[in-house]
Amino acid sequence: MVILDGKALSVKIKSQIKEEVRVLKEKGITPGLAFILVGDNPASQVYVNMKTKACEEVGIYSINHRMPKETTEKELIEVIKMLNDNPMVHGILVQLPLPKHISEERIIEAIDYKKDVDGFHPYNMGRLARGNPLFSSCTPFGIMKLFEEYAIDVKGKDVVMVGAGNITGKPMSLMLLNAGATVQVCHIYTQDLKEKTKRADILISAVGKPKLITEDMVKEGAIVVDVGISRVDNKVVGDVDFENVSKKVSYITPVPGGVGPMTIAMLLYNTLLSVKIREV
Ligand code: NAD
Repeated sequence: MVILDGKALSVKIKSQIKEEVRVLKEKGITPGLAFILVGDNPASQVYVNMKTKACEEVGIYSINHRMPKETTEKELIEVIKMLNDNPMVHGILVQLPLPKHISEERIIEAIDYKKDVDGFHPYNMGRLARGNPLFSSCTPFGIMKLFEEYAIDVKGKDVVMVGAGNITGKPMSLMLLNAGATVQVCHIYTQDLKEKTKRADILISAVGKPKLITEDMVKEGAIVVDVGISRVDNKVVGDVDFENVSKKVSYITPVPGGVGPMTIAMLLYNTLLSVKIREV
């Protein structure tokens, strides 16, 4: 069994990005990434802090807009418009989830798709669906990079994607389909999940339910990717019962240290891509 070490690969990618940022700065271009955080969700604060720190590590300039939970949709759109027009800003990230009175769809659509480093804008999702991506959603993009790093060819493989969310499941399925995999997407209404997962060469879970994926649900020698993040007894765990599942697979991602660090690395990668689209 081989651990798909997202932490190590993220360090490698970040050092390449750092070098590219250095070269850009010599040309007088400083990549800039703006974060908007509405409200005081503790997990969201942790994520934004981690992403801000990663920007610092590689020399990307970051701006943080912290807005109170009472912020109206109109006020938030005004800030987004300002950032859309700001030439110092190459990427805009609105940390999700948003307070319930704000429409996530309208906010995502307000972001200039050329600064949509999260890849959530319908333009970018549409391009991905057509097999011609511009910005790809960071979490599935990071998983594709992990496959590449470990020379895992997804072409012709049977992949089962558990979870069909907009952040991971849907874009992941499209990326795999574009790469020639045969993809089956499962979700909360899927009947007999085990019957499906057992046939997977590659099994990816992005649900957020600890121990959803147990040993009996996994084929011998399969590749397992765990996107889930949950807290159990103050410990971060994924969707996969790692201890038992890891004994029968060929490759597996750990939680933490698998998909999470790759997500952040790809955010930085997308910010550089935004610079290249505009300035280089
Ligand atoms: P989401 O929350 O938008 O959707 C969850 C999906 O899981 C839905 O499609 C739902 O139908 C499905 N589902 C729920 N219960 C199920 C069950 N019992 N069986 C099968 N399917 C079920 O998805 P998301 O935003 O991708 O988040 C999923 C998890 O991944 C969360 O734990 C989140 O914290 C984590 N996450 C981690 C990273 C990372 O960088 N590691 C990035 C994004 C999300």
